[in-house]
Amino acid sequence: MSKSFYLETFGCQMNVVDSERIVALLNDIDYRQVDQPEAADLILLNTCSVRDKAERKVFGHLGRFKPLKDRRPSLIIGVGGCVAQQEGERFLDKVPYLDLVFGTHNIHKLPAMVRQAEIGRGQIQETEFLDRETRLSLFPERSEGDSCTRFVTVMQGCDNFCSYCIVPHVRGREVSRPSGEIVREVRELAQMGVREITLIGQNVNSYGGKEADEIGFAELLRRVHDVEGVERIRFTTSHPKDLSDELIDCFGELPKLCSHLQLPVQAGSDRILKQMNRGYTRGQYLAKVDRLKQVCPDIRLTTDLIVGFPGETEEDFRQTLDVVRQVRYADAYTFLYSPRPGTAAAAFDNPVSQMEKQRWFDELLEVQTAIGRDIWAGDVGSTLEVLVEGESRQKGGQLFGRSVWGRIVNFDGDPALIGSLVEVRINRSLRNSQQGELVTAAAV
Ligand code: SAM
Ligand code: SF4
Repeated sequence: MSKSFYLETFGCQMNVVDSERIVALLNDIDYRQVDQPEAADLILLNTCSVRDKAERKVFGHLGRFKPLKDRRPSLIIGVGGCVAQQEGERFLDKVPYLDLVFGTHNIHKLPAMVRQAEIGRGQIQETEFLDRETRLSLFPERSEGDSCTRFVTVMQGCDNFCSYCIVPHVRGREVSRPSGEIVREVRELAQMGVREITLIGQNVNSYGGKEADEIGFAELLRRVHDVEGVERIRFTTSHPKDLSDELIDCFGELPKLCSHLQLPVQAGSDRILKQMNRGYTRGQYLAKVDRLKQVCPDIRLTTDLIVGFPGETEEDFRQTLDVVRQVRYADAYTFLYSPRPGTAAAAFDNPVSQMEKQRWFDELLEVQTAIGRDIWAGDVGSTLEVLVEGESRQKGGQLFGRSVWGRIVNFDGDPALIGSLVEVRINRSLRNSQQGELVTAAAV
């Protein structure tokens, strides 16, 4: 008889993709996913340690499951992802009712770990980093899911060591998947009806750079662009220092490449960028943005920003605000700096007071929100191409999809349109989405 599992995922797209893989691996051993932990034989948390007090949060979540384990000792509880990678054995010591801890390189071992736990083999931990050949051989063969949009992992890990960031420590060095495999996966997905491909990696545009015989990211984009059936291409996340002129030109040359780019700036002051070890100056970043706007005038940029980095001054912060005003981002993920144990910046002196940081954060949010609101409100009255992804969860009877800029658009329509490109006139712009009406029901 098949068993059931409950899975919670935290953090970034890499974790979402890892969770898809976890679901597929567990399905292979006859475990079916359920929505309620109470109904599960196996509970898994796929964790993220990029921001905040990640470890503490995971303990909080695990605490919710303890009464279930007390009532049903055969219940298996496991933790994977970045926090598991970082904490390893300490996790098992601190949480005696935890059965499994698996690191970012060990997802493929999950079925065997679950089987061991089923026969009561005690606490099991797999958190060692694998060598590059093994990692390359373990890239998921195909992303899972039933949507017309799909993530395709092209590289994993990161070699940049930004001073605040835990990723290189918990995901390991950069490896790029062979381009032939990526294009084959995209071709298969297109044949299955997938219309939009998002190429993902921690530092996606450094693709191929560390492999002797591999093509670069711009050429990879061109090859994916050639795949028949693919209508839209996106990629994330790119590092500004690896945004080459050749890649910028792709935005002018490849019609299927969506005119949206997530280009994390993090800070606007050269002094702070240097201490963050970002590898570019404010001037270099702004020059790339200018070039992007020349090559693709309707491009919309989004970004990540960190406020309150150790040693940041009022003047540094003003420079960040200035970049935000100059670039006019359509959206931004703004974060209060939080020290991540083991990173270089965790050892930096941080004289900035919490109150100061919060004041900056609030001001930044206010400025960015006003700019974003303006940009999205400018779409009202225009007709946009939308790829219909499914039925809207919020409002019964409505469909939802995305414009080329990645914004959710809700509108009334026939579910038969799911998976096709349609034209929608935008009537209202809301905080995180837009509301519209169908103009053409036929695929465009
Ligand atoms: N690779 C991408 C890049 O270089 O821009 C970003 C990846 S990181 C997983 C996502 C975002 O988390 C970063 O862009 C940064 O803004 C934020 N972040 C990472 N470490 C942080 C920290 N210690 N405190 C606050 N925000 C942090
Ligand atoms: Fe972290 Fe920097 Fe790598 Fe992005 S590029 S994942 S911020 S170390």
